[in-house]
Amino acid sequence: MDIKQLNKQYIANTYGRYDIQLVRGVGAIGYDEKGTRYIDCTSGVGTNSFGFADPTLVAAITEQAGKMIHSSNYFYNEPATLLAKMLCERTGMSKVFFSNSGTEATEGAIKAARKYSHDKYGKGRSKIVCLHDSFHGRTMASLSATGQDLFHQHFFPFVEGFDFATAGDVAEISAKVDESTCAVLIEIVQGEGGVFVLDKEYVQAVAKLCAERDVLLLIDEVQTGNGRCGTLFAYMDYEIKPDIFYTAKGLGGGLPIGAIVFNEKTSTTFGAGHHGSTFGGNPLCTAGALSIFSRIDDAFMADVRRKGDYIRARLSESSKIKSVSGLGMMIGFELVDGLTAPEVVQECLKRGLMILTAKHKGRLLPPLNITDEELTEAMDILMSVLA
Ligand code: PLP
Repeated sequence: MDIKQLNKQYIANTYGRYDIQLVRGVGAIGYDEKGTRYIDCTSGVGTNSFGFADPTLVAAITEQAGKMIHSSNYFYNEPATLLAKMLCERTGMSKVFFSNSGTEATEGAIKAARKYSHDKYGKGRSKIVCLHDSFHGRTMASLSATGQDLFHQHFFPFVEGFDFATAGDVAEISAKVDESTCAVLIEIVQGEGGVFVLDKEYVQAVAKLCAERDVLLLIDEVQTGNGRCGTLFAYMDYEIKPDIFYTAKGLGGGLPIGAIVFNEKTSTTFGAGHHGSTFGGNPLCTAGALSIFSRIDDAFMADVRRKGDYIRARLSESSKIKSVSGLGMMIGFELVDGLTAPEVVQECLKRGLMILTAKHKGRLLPPLNITDEELTEAMDILMSVLA
């Protein structure tokens, strides 16, 4: 059976795929159908926190699947409850809503921000100020919140009530956050926008002006969260407190799950019937996420930072790299003129290494538990390609 051909015939053509069919893997090592070995520095675009088929995760979801895969949100379930408790206790936040993806988490956070403001101030205060070069998802509202013209095509009309500011410009965002504004939405590291790390002083200034004007600070931790940046959530290193943050990707270690996390102020904004999801918080995905999230402890995150530093040091050795950006193991690198990220990706694949692009940059998102040996091998391959 030619899976690649069948895929092209039957699956909607929304992805530009590489010519590889992955069939199995463990940790950072994956294999195609012919047994060719690849070192993974993509982790399923930041989701496989512990690699392709982590035995502890497999055991947790196998056990849960044997008990109950799904119930519904009309009944209590233990894994979702314990995961919400752990998310709140480790962040000082108050309540969680579970979704199935990052996009849906964006959508729910937008709804919550608008409802918070409407409940308190009535109509006319629904604008959300986002940043240029952001990425928040693929539904109509999350696309509308995404600050890239590339995504504002084809699907008109988009959802109204979004405005965009340039990261780093405090005066601009201060002017845009006016009496019609209910929230500001930012990523601490703009992942899809080119692994751009926001400046700490800027983020603190935004948090301050939000607090002064009772405008909610929403932080999208879909890609940056769950240890990826060497912190539990990237905002935690910025000495600020969001009103709502939300995450997805690495939380489930490859399972589809997202979480919107509310502080005390926003914890009662959603009441019964205001939001929902059939699959959100289902026992299988939350049991898996519990297994992942409980292992992302301080020692583990220190190791993520150490390995991230190693990657940065190796990248900075190459004369073909103009700049390196990112936090922890969320890393972007900009190539010198004449070399493009897609051609580097293709050449890496030929040599058994999987990496990503982000805008014009190369991007590395290895599984967080990649071993030192695998990481050294991966960087050796990348350096040989660049040489
Ligand atoms: N927000 C950010 C910051 C993301 O990086 C992404 C995906 O790349 C999303 C939202 C959308 O998440 P999902 O693809 O799980 O819907």
